[in-house]
Amino acid sequence: MNAFGCHCPKCGSSGQIDICAQVWVRLTRVGTAADLSRQGNHEWNDASRATCDCGWTGRVNELIKESGNG
Ligand SMILES: [Zn+2]
Repeated sequence: MNAFGCHCPKCGSSGQIDICAQVWVRLTRVGTAADLSRQGNHEWNDASRATCDCGWTGRVNELIKESGNG
């Protein structure tokens, strides 16, 4: 399971989910580098786009979240 307890609503997997997050990148001579940016955080929320390796695409709030209550 991933650290956020989210599962794909189509295949049920929790290990194949990608989320489209906004990141800060440092402009360099050869391109951009996220690792060099002082703003090391990245942002995403329930409205961010998400996709799974099974082909599902949607929004973060469509993912199935573990309740923690069983
Ligand atoms: Zn899936």
